[in-house]
Amino acid sequence: MPIRMLSPEVASQIAAGEVIERPASVVKELLENSLDAGANTIAIHVEEAGKKRIEIADDGAGIPADELELAASRHATSKLVRSDELFSIVTLGFRGEALASIGSVSRMTITSRVGGEKEGARFMVEGGKSKKPTKVGATVGTVICVEDLFYNVPARLKFLKTDTTERRAIDTLVARYALAYPAKRFKLTDGKNVVLQTAGDGDRRAILAALYGVDVAKQMLEVHSMEEGMTLAGFISPTSLTRSNRKEITFFINGRWVHEVALSTALMQAYHTLLMVGRYPLAALFLEIKPEDVDVNVHPAKAEVRFRNQDKVFSFVQRSARKALLAYSPVPSVATSLWGGRSVSVESNSVGLDWTIGHDNQVNSDQLSVNGDLMLRQAQHGGPETDAQSPTSNLHSPNSQVQSSSFARIPLLRLIGQIGAAYLVAEGPDGLYLIDQHAAHERVLFEKLMAQREMKSIASQALLTPVAVTLPPQSTQLLMSQLPVLKYFGFDVEEFGPNTFQIRAMPVLFSGSDPSAALRALVEDFEEDEAPLKDEVEKKLAARVCKRMAVRAGMSLSNEEQRALLADLETCDSPRTCPHGRPTMIHLSVDVLERQFGRRGAR
Ligand code: ADP
Ligand code: MG
Repeated sequence: MPIRMLSPEVASQIAAGEVIERPASVVKELLENSLDAGANTIAIHVEEAGKKRIEIADDGAGIPADELELAASRHATSKLVRSDELFSIVTLGFRGEALASIGSVSRMTITSRVGGEKEGARFMVEGGKSKKPTKVGATVGTVICVEDLFYNVPARLKFLKTDTTERRAIDTLVARYALAYPAKRFKLTDGKNVVLQTAGDGDRRAILAALYGVDVAKQMLEVHSMEEGMTLAGFISPTSLTRSNRKEITFFINGRWVHEVALSTALMQAYHTLLMVGRYPLAALFLEIKPEDVDVNVHPAKAEVRFRNQDKVFSFVQRSARKALLAYSPVPSVATSLWGGRSVSVESNSVGLDWTIGHDNQVNSDQLSVNGDLMLRQAQHGGPETDAQSPTSNLHSPNSQVQSSSFARIPLLRLIGQIGAAYLVAEGPDGLYLIDQHAAHERVLFEKLMAQREMKSIASQALLTPVAVTLPPQSTQLLMSQLPVLKYFGFDVEEFGPNTFQIRAMPVLFSGSDPSAALRALVEDFEEDEAPLKDEVEKKLAARVCKRMAVRAGMSLSNEEQRALLADLETCDSPRTCPHGRPTMIHLSVDVLERQFGRRGAR
């Protein structure tokens, strides 16, 4: 074929493809425009996950009637004049591409009025073709309505995900922007439902609560740091609050949502050795940096940036987060002599030896220093450092299913007792065993649940009084789509009002535990595109619920309970790790004891 210039329609659709990928990208561009226009109130309305309609109304500066047509053409912007300004951008937009792109792949109507004008004007673009603006009555500000997104790009339409997923992307986006701009009022509605509404009173924690629920919002730690023209503000989770992926790590740089892998890495380093492998914190962090120190013009959707001095920013983020973590969630100190005389960095505020902690329900086994210490020691000895599946491999435990299961089994143990309301102490043929009661119980519940599932008979028990649970809006959506899965797991849950569900029955295995905690565990980590009823997903779900339902550190167990737990653990197929891969026990062999007491070949 000979070379030809692309027709303007094709060219503009190609260009649009870079910026507008899905309904959430439209919302993002329009939100950013409203923020740039100085709006204080932004109302977003979507229908059918934005596929049918997205409407954003703001009370910003508005667009003059005679500039409407220009606003919607490519490379037309009021925000940038000279090319050197590209390196000191203070607005969210600057390319003049968004409205043109959106207009070329939808039916877009812009209605706007600037202050001082008596009336407003309306302008329509359909698939890139526009009509002359007309005068209309309007309030000051701008309303942009985008209908039938991708109606003329069927290929794009086919790539859109389910309504639930696309809606989630929009919800997440708006919630993040609301968090970033707590002084502005945001309202997101979907059909008749109000999904999110913020007061605009500057209270970020209240927005966090709308996003994650009150429980989580209460636990989040505040970050506030300033250094050489940089500020970092926002929230990070304590080490007891984690997720199985990085999706809840959000960074804003100068008010712009970015996906900066380097910054997440910096954050993760702040948690170094405080989190189990494969667990990630939640974070919403807002970095302010001089505009000339960051290049925002490196990504089509402006989702990535480049720093002039990346190391400096990186280390600032890491130190700030670490400081917040240590200030609020002390790292327990370690009985160093017992574990080889190596001193572990003991942070201030320590709550004492790990032998004596465990009275705080927040402290779960992620935090207990014996485990952390173990991981460290492995790393130092060049052991299988961070293999998520086998943090215990130094404890001669099998780390792959290939190994014979008899090797995995633990010997018959004689119970000695419980210490720190967190660990069981037992004697085996070859020395002392310390068992983390929470991790052990998690393992036991998990294997029982999976065994029942195998038999297709997860026994369910009706609750005497049904329990009502209110969830954050995003989780509600998710839970609705998961109701059949829950049934299968022995939960009987039904909708009971806006964002509220009623639990009527739960698995017998968990009787006596808090049903609402189980339900929350099921929805909170569920990933958006996980198809339920797949083996792996089910296992993950089961592991999550068992974690929630297991006895916690800090609970005193009766003698019978301790014995039963040990006996149950002995029958497990993989008794040495919890379903999340953490060790359930530490073994001190007679040999190690002898060395430690200087009886044999002491170091
Ligand atoms: P950019 O944001 O990169 O300038 P856009 O295509 O998003 O490009 O918008 C083009 C222009 O339209 C903007 O520069 C701005 O002048 C105007 N505009 C768009 N949305 C709004 C709005 N909500 N309020 C006021 N002006 C707007
Ligand atoms: Mg813009």
